[in-house]
Amino acid sequence: MNQATQRLLDRLNQLGTISNSPDCLSRYYATPAFEKAGDLLNEWMTEAGLIVTKDCVGNIRGILHSQNSDAKHFVVGSHYDSVHNAGKYDGPLGILVGIELAIYAKEKANALPFHLNIVAFADEEGARFNTSYLGSSVLAGNFNLEWLDRKDDDGISIKELIEKEGNVASIPNYAIPADEWLGYYEVHIEQGPVLEDKNQSVCSVKGIAGQDRLTISWEGMAGHAGTSPMDLRKDAYCGAAEFALKVEEVGLKHKEKLVATVGKLNLFPNTSNVIPAKVTHSLDIRSADKQFLNQMVDDLNKMATEIAERRALKINWDLVQSNPPVACDIRLTQALTNAISSIGIEPTNLLSGAGHDGVMIAEVAPITMLFVRSRAGISHNPLEYTSPEDIQDAIQVSINYLENLTLAFGDKE
Ligand SMILES: [Zn+2]
Repeated sequence: MNQATQRLLDRLNQLGTISNSPDCLSRYYATPAFEKAGDLLNEWMTEAGLIVTKDCVGNIRGILHSQNSDAKHFVVGSHYDSVHNAGKYDGPLGILVGIELAIYAKEKANALPFHLNIVAFADEEGARFNTSYLGSSVLAGNFNLEWLDRKDDDGISIKELIEKEGNVASIPNYAIPADEWLGYYEVHIEQGPVLEDKNQSVCSVKGIAGQDRLTISWEGMAGHAGTSPMDLRKDAYCGAAEFALKVEEVGLKHKEKLVATVGKLNLFPNTSNVIPAKVTHSLDIRSADKQFLNQMVDDLNKMATEIAERRALKINWDLVQSNPPVACDIRLTQALTNAISSIGIEPTNLLSGAGHDGVMIAEVAPITMLFVRSRAGISHNPLEYTSPEDIQDAIQVSINYLENLTLAFGDKE
């Protein structure tokens, strides 16, 4: 194992212990563990010789400046928030590969034809507010101000969190203007089984599937679990449960091009001897075909309305976020593919079913991604694992990619 891989692994393990829970890795956006991890990343970027700033949503951005005054920005990033009971590779791996790239590039900074930015994005998972990409949307300049009023389970809004240290009016100041972007690159674990199946350490990504995130509420009537007759109840949970099975049915019927999940559910009053009066749950639905995705969301809405009417429940359907499918840039991906081939790996180009920060960046800049093999395709789980050898390949491919870009863009200057 080379020095860069060893350093990256030490740091990955260190970040993996920074959690809000004593039992597992849990690092929701803007929590104490999140702040602590951000401070460490800031320290490591500074040590790598980058000029580091933290913006009002919590993105940590380190820049290695080109000496060319017309230089544009090339951004390498990933996220440092996590889901609850997470693995340690999802997110931090991409940031730490970025820091290794910066350490490598520092020695050759004179020849750098673009400003190399390493960014640790604040909130990609969206576990706290059910809104992903809060961080990358700020850097891309497409942060949706309507998100500011969204509240977490404790009733704290995004706006309140930002205004603890910063000012929401300053959000646009932290964007890289669209005409100053050169491109974006993210290294991420595959979170699927294909690379393991092909016995391959890394591959390029051709695009990211479209995704809608919804919050759906069902309102019925609370009642005594012992005295309310079964046929006179308005049980909000039974409505939600019937709908969840419909979601599964639709997903199974179109399993070649759709996945759909009810992953979070809150019951009120959540008491064993009271009929649930209100249930709020998430719906996460994804497809590479946007038109088909829209059609399926419409169909599910009709099914939910039918269930609610039949059960005399009120329903509230809230589309929290809708992200179209995104394609990776062909020219930059060719430079990445060449970097992969140069270490003797056969190029493969996969579609990402998982969302990534590149979704937001793709609105303003060409994006590229590198997937690294994850054991058994497991992620969002403490069993997540990527071997040191595969990480070493990811670092080497990224260095070769940087060299290819330096040549490609250096010629033009
Ligand atoms: Zn991730």
